Amino acid sequence: MTTLLYTHAACLEHDPGQYHPECPARLEAVLNALSAPEFAALDRREAPQAALDDLLRVHPRQFVERLLAAVPQAGHVGVDADTVMSPQSGEAALRAAGAVAAAVDAVIKGKAANAFCAVRPPGHHAEPNRAMGFCLFNNVAVGALRARQVHGLARVAVIDFDVHHGNGTQARFWADASLFYGSTHQSPLYPGTGSAGETGVGGNIVNVPLRPLSGGAQFRQGMERVLLPALDAFAPEMVMISAGFDAHRSDPLAQLMLEEADYTWATEQLCAIARRHAGGRVVSTLEGGYDLGALGASAAAHVRALMSA
Ligand SMILES: [Zn+2]
Repeated sequence: MTTLLYTHAACLEHDPGQYHPECPARLEAVLNALSAPEFAALDRREAPQAALDDLLRVHPRQFVERLLAAVPQAGHVGVDADTVMSPQSGEAALRAAGAVAAAVDAVIKGKAANAFCAVRPPGHHAEPNRAMGFCLFNNVAVGALRARQVHGLARVAVIDFDVHHGNGTQARFWADASLFYGSTHQSPLYPGTGSAGETGVGGNIVNVPLRPLSGGAQFRQGMERVLLPALDAFAPEMVMISAGFDAHRSDPLAQLMLEEADYTWATEQLCAIARRHAGGRVVSTLEGGYDLGALGASAAAHVRALMSA
């Protein structure tokens, strides 16, 4: 079984402005790393645009219509203090969400073991009614809800190891016991949510906040003692990953100290749980990661682990 790689040129055209950390060069760094000979076996697919119905499982219609209507013809439009749209941002956002929806379809239909979506803008901060934190649509939630409602999976989990808490995914999953959201993230840090006391309904939300300067040992301990046992108990029929690589020690936006090997380890752990409960089904999508070298190397480590799962 192969690993799918979804991406699209439009995701390189979303331009939040000069000096913005969520820059097109991020995706170039990931795609460059995945162009090495060891990744020749990846099954590369163009990301389709998300269908309106897919977006509406996560976001209210008025939000979707207003956001797309606000995409500028030229120049930039700010959605919030650090979330900015350029003329190509609408298509990029639709391709980013569409990638995850298509990857879910392909993996559930057995066309591949797992998939990685190399897309931007990222998604995990986007709440149902609010674009924020560099995110427009919540890409991973669009995929999870498609798995639940179109394919009829009973339980779908998202694990988020981005250094920031995925407030948007948590908000959408909060009251739905068929969805599980588990996150490791630095605290205190933007967006300020994600305390261990935020547990959703029946414990379907599991937050593992990590102090600044925590490294691989603390990350693995949090995963092994808290997050992975809860995920195993949830018995997901699909495991999805919000794969942000900004917890890397080289990242300029946060102060965790992870290394590539920690991403390999985490990916292997999640794939093992997917094998146990979900027929190995894993769909991962890029979130943050702002040191270009660390981002490329970490994404490569993650995809390498998916390919050998
Ligand atoms: Zn992040």
